[in-house]
Amino acid sequence: MTTRRAILHWVPAAGVALVAGRAQAQAGKAVDEKEPQAVSLGYVTDAARVDKTKFPKFAAGQHCAACQFYTAAATAATGPCTIFGGRPVAGPGWCSAFVKKA
Ligand code: SF4
Repeated sequence: MTTRRAILHWVPAAGVALVAGRAQAQAGKAVDEKEPQAVSLGYVTDAARVDKTKFPKFAAGQHCAACQFYTAAATAATGPCTIFGGRPVAGPGWCSAFVKKA
């Protein structure tokens, strides 16, 4: 027989497992332009579509593959971005956290 105490012990653990599972599923998922963090940073998958009125510091030639937070080879079509927790972003993309690779 399942006691009330056993249920109260089990339910929070299941919740934690569910949240952890979602975070893990999100971890490898490419960043979507419509996500809140992406929207706040002005992330686009193609730097040609940067809203230059909203982000006047954008300069031609800036794109994810040339950014220091892009951890894949500069020639990779997509690569992990440390600003987005290591999730893939588009090499030709851009966001306002751009810092030129040293
Ligand atoms: Fe791209 Fe750099 Fe912004 Fe990451 S921080 S999305 S690599 S421009």
